[in-house]
Amino acid sequence: MSRPGQNDCGLRTTDCGLRIADCGLIAEIVSSNPQSAIRNPQSNVSYSLFVLALLLCTQFIYAFARDDYPRNAAIDAIHYRLRLMIRETSEEIQAEAEILFELKEDGVKTIALDLRGLTVVQVTEDKRAAKFTRADGRVQISLSGSYRNLGMVKREGADLELYYYLFPRDRDKGIKGYGRALQMIEFYSNLIGPFPYEKLALVQSSTRYGGMENASNIFLAEDTFGEGVVAHEIAHQWFGDAVTEADWHHLWLSEGFATYFGHLFFERADGRDKFVQLMLNDKESYLKEYGKDPPPIYDPSITDLLKLLNANSYQKGGWVLHMLRYVMGDEKFFAGIRDYYRTYRDRNALTDDFRKVMEFHYGQPLAWFFKQWIFESGYPIYEAVWKWDESTRELRIRVRQKQEKTVFRMPVEIEIKAGKEVRREVIKIDEREQNFTFKLDAKPQGLTIDPDEWLLKVANVSEVK
Ligand SMILES: [Zn+2]
Repeated sequence: MSRPGQNDCGLRTTDCGLRIADCGLIAEIVSSNPQSAIRNPQSNVSYSLFVLALLLCTQFIYAFARDDYPRNAAIDAIHYRLRLMIRETSEEIQAEAEILFELKEDGVKTIALDLRGLTVVQVTEDKRAAKFTRADGRVQISLSGSYRNLGMVKREGADLELYYYLFPRDRDKGIKGYGRALQMIEFYSNLIGPFPYEKLALVQSSTRYGGMENASNIFLAEDTFGEGVVAHEIAHQWFGDAVTEADWHHLWLSEGFATYFGHLFFERADGRDKFVQLMLNDKESYLKEYGKDPPPIYDPSITDLLKLLNANSYQKGGWVLHMLRYVMGDEKFFAGIRDYYRTYRDRNALTDDFRKVMEFHYGQPLAWFFKQWIFESGYPIYEAVWKWDESTRELRIRVRQKQEKTVFRMPVEIEIKAGKEVRREVIKIDEREQNFTFKLDAKPQGLTIDPDEWLLKVANVSEVK
């Protein structure tokens, strides 16, 4: 979406002067952008935007004005609307012009408009009467509002401009819902690499999806003000836009990444509990969508590409990254992510390309991981039974993988509670059925599999006497 033609200072009436053929006509001209723009609205005190409305009269059917006075670089008229009222009984044309200005700098006190040939009857500034004087066809308007340009977000090497385009009625809602976009951009820039484009706009618009991650120009559904969607679409600028899958069947490289990195913002900003809750919600959606016989993420049998917008590409894709992070550890995982972005920025990639970069940082093969999680189906269903042997002071655990197809290989953390002591152990589960034994001082009260929720799994634990 492009912004309407920029006008440095005020109204070019040549653009909107009309030849009127019929009497009794009310004409309304609206510039190509029907929305108001709010630039970096980090404060609800003041905005860089305001509307001036001018009531004008002219005796001429064709109103013409030149616009040759010095430009004011501090002001940009980004949207105008002209309403003409013509009566059959009079030669006079009445007009009302509404202009939406954006301030590029702070402290602008006056605006001059060249309106030769027109009589200015009244000027309002954001619906309040404004003071104005006129001389030589120019109208000088004194602004009463104190407007501020709300600043830029920094990115590596250059400033990044962030724009919000909102319907005026939803301005407050949008500021709140889109509110932490700047922090998101900064977070992803630090975590992944430089923001890939010159600017970013968040546009409230009619889209059939909740959000659409057009590069540098995100469309958000008219009634979508949730920060989760905003974080997801912003994360897409790196993964999905700058790095794009070479084949739609690897869509998880877009959607799984945007889902997971969307959640990572909340892990950093709001804490681990919120993040875990988002992951568990995703797990629930995935289990709900697929029930007992889930297909693999990479599923070339899907020929209707819209059907790839599924819980495999999104929710399970996000979980795959989460589990890879668990396997590799934070340091190696995020070093790999940065490398992958740096290597494939403005290019295409497949799952194997991602795997190779991650293997380089992990220092070990990962084909087994991608094979089971991307190219094979489902998730592990662990059934664990434990027994306490008082005579040997041993805890014996038998774990069985109950899912039908793939036998998963994963490191699995278990938590054993015995009295006030909480012990954590990592076991490697990679067979259909395995036994583990731990020496303990006292009989445990219970056992938890994967207490920190690192695995896409279902786990049932029970004690046998
Ligand atoms: Zn997405």
